Amino acid sequence: MTTKALKPGIPFIISAPSGTGKTTICGILRKKLPGLQFSVSHTTRPKREGEQEGVDYFYISNEEFEQKIENADFLEWAKTHNNYYGTSFSTIIEHTQKGHDLLLELDVQGVESLRDSNYKGVFIFILPPSLEELKRRLDFRGTESPEKIAMRLETGKKEILSYPLYDYVLTNHIAEETADTIASIMHSEKFRAELYTPSSSDIQTLLNQKKDATCSPPSSKNS
Ligand code: 5GP
Repeated sequence: MTTKALKPGIPFIISAPSGTGKTTICGILRKKLPGLQFSVSHTTRPKREGEQEGVDYFYISNEEFEQKIENADFLEWAKTHNNYYGTSFSTIIEHTQKGHDLLLELDVQGVESLRDSNYKGVFIFILPPSLEELKRRLDFRGTESPEKIAMRLETGKKEILSYPLYDYVLTNHIAEETADTIASIMHSEKFRAELYTPSSSDIQTLLNQKKDATCSPPSSKNS
């Protein structure tokens, strides 16, 4: 009997300017796709009301974060709005090796560093319908001072300029529809030829024979 090798899970990386609705969209995806795991990042920013340790983030001090950087614990990390954010290697390895698809919510700096290291994942960027609408949504949240809103808007504009870094770009008009589109992207990615593992053992054997033939050294015509 042949044991089918476990396919590693796919990391899906999602970014969006602050106020675009990413948290709402990810909340919908959580309900829609119960098998999808969420990467919990480490951060030095204070916990917001309603957030939970180990669910939304692992909340640590600046000193602890800097120690983790020194220990090379992070796959990537970034400093944004004066706070550190980072994804630990152990979180990613734990999930993908078990074959779980994983959702990572990263800012553009994190994506730049993953692209630089040629990290294999699917990168998705969510745009707001317009800059005007982004400002309206940030004002409506009412959680930040006007100065902080202005800062987030400026960061958002810079982030929008980086969207060619991503594999997919979509505009969030209605969160439910955006989540549906992301779910269908996630579904389609499973059928990429390079990731595909046939379920039938005879087709798998055929493919392995082809691979072995391609890998063996060419026979010399003169020998
Ligand atoms: P917030 O403070 O609103 O939760 O997050 C601020 C920004 O940091 C968001 O764009 C969020 O996606 C990003 N972020 C959260 N976790 C990480 C992480 O581990 N790495 C990076 N690079 N960005 C992160």
